[in-house]
Amino acid sequence: MSNPLLFKGELKMTQVRFLNGLQTIGGNIVEFSTANSRVIMDMGTAANFAEAPITELIQQGNLPDLPDLFTPNAAAQYEHQAIFISHMHIDHIGALKYLQAPIPVYLSRPSYELYQELINLGIEAPVANLRVLEIEQPLVVGDFTVTGFASDHDVIGALALLVSDGVHYFAHSGDVRLNGPHRQRVEHWAQVFQQQHLDLFLSEATAFSFDTMDENTDASVQPQPLTETSLMPKFKEALHQTRDLIVLNPYLRNIERLNNFNQSAKAVGRQIVWDKNFGQCLEHFYSEQNWLILDRDVNIDQIKQNPQKYVLQNNFEQLSLLENFDHLLYLQSNGEPLGDYDPRMQQLLDFLQAHHFPRVVLSVSGHASQADLLDLAQAVQAKTTVYWHSFHPQKAAAALEKCGLATLLPERNQIYYFS
Ligand SMILES: [Zn+2]
Ligand SMILES: [Zn+2]
Repeated sequence: MSNPLLFKGELKMTQVRFLNGLQTIGGNIVEFSTANSRVIMDMGTAANFAEAPITELIQQGNLPDLPDLFTPNAAAQYEHQAIFISHMHIDHIGALKYLQAPIPVYLSRPSYELYQELINLGIEAPVANLRVLEIEQPLVVGDFTVTGFASDHDVIGALALLVSDGVHYFAHSGDVRLNGPHRQRVEHWAQVFQQQHLDLFLSEATAFSFDTMDENTDASVQPQPLTETSLMPKFKEALHQTRDLIVLNPYLRNIERLNNFNQSAKAVGRQIVWDKNFGQCLEHFYSEQNWLILDRDVNIDQIKQNPQKYVLQNNFEQLSLLENFDHLLYLQSNGEPLGDYDPRMQQLLDFLQAHHFPRVVLSVSGHASQADLLDLAQAVQAKTTVYWHSFHPQKAAAALEKCGLATLLPERNQIYYFS
């Protein structure tokens, strides 16, 4: 797993330090630095943790080892520095709210706009110095140039990021899939990265985390996973199944899917009733208002009188609202709780069972399959590929080596020098 282009412990030009997220899903943070410049990719947290003083959060590994960014009035160590965010999932932005240094934080325009909406709605804590990184417009940060490429993930505005020090090229895939509606975006950045002869390609490897995703599993007996495209016919099918109320639990930050739900519902003669938060985010991104907002456009009594005319969006926190209905069909589409690991999942299942409300799961993954991840790494053809954002990076790295690609299993906080 060694690579002759990487040297440990020698003083050379660009340093790369992996700050978090090497053996887990999310919270992956990497720093590229020279004597006077630093760029950091993503600033997430991997798991829920108890609040504690910053020094403890860093010691526990819940925040990255960047005390100068998290301490008020700390002396600036770099003349030029910036943070770049690949996308708006908590595991990529969760640590931003702890920032104390006046460091700019760049996001794609859709991510920036979504972030501002979420801050306005009180869903996200305010973060200073948020800025827009326009797609494929290189931005100079001291010794580095950073370019963002539109990508495909289950959240609006996802980026893959390219970093250069003028000699070396490094790239961060962000979270990515190849079976989504924007596959051509991914193919495009993969081609650009390939042409740049990357020294280092950091790729998410979520699919190498679960036994059920094992490459040896017989694909012919596995149900085909839903894609964003195949989801909508399934949704319409469910809407045709009943004249009862349909309840929908999707994920707010996947704005494009919300818009697809609006259009699909309308096509079969129903309108979606969103809560204020969902409605406000949708209004920001889509001008055609083919949906309703609860308690502004329609109330629960009106929905009770004509349940066949509506799809009611519901959050776990508003579950008790469903007690107004005797019958309904509950559709879960990546809304919280996200999985069995979340204790709220059992509460949700118990609630639905107690009320005899059937539940249908219409979830779509934002992550590439193992085969697609390997195809992507082979398309990029970096000198070294690092798989992270995975519970089993060793397994992922072994699969890369089988494909003839050089790989590296980095150590947390170890500095790698590129000469
Ligand atoms: Zn992630
Ligand atoms: Zn993500």
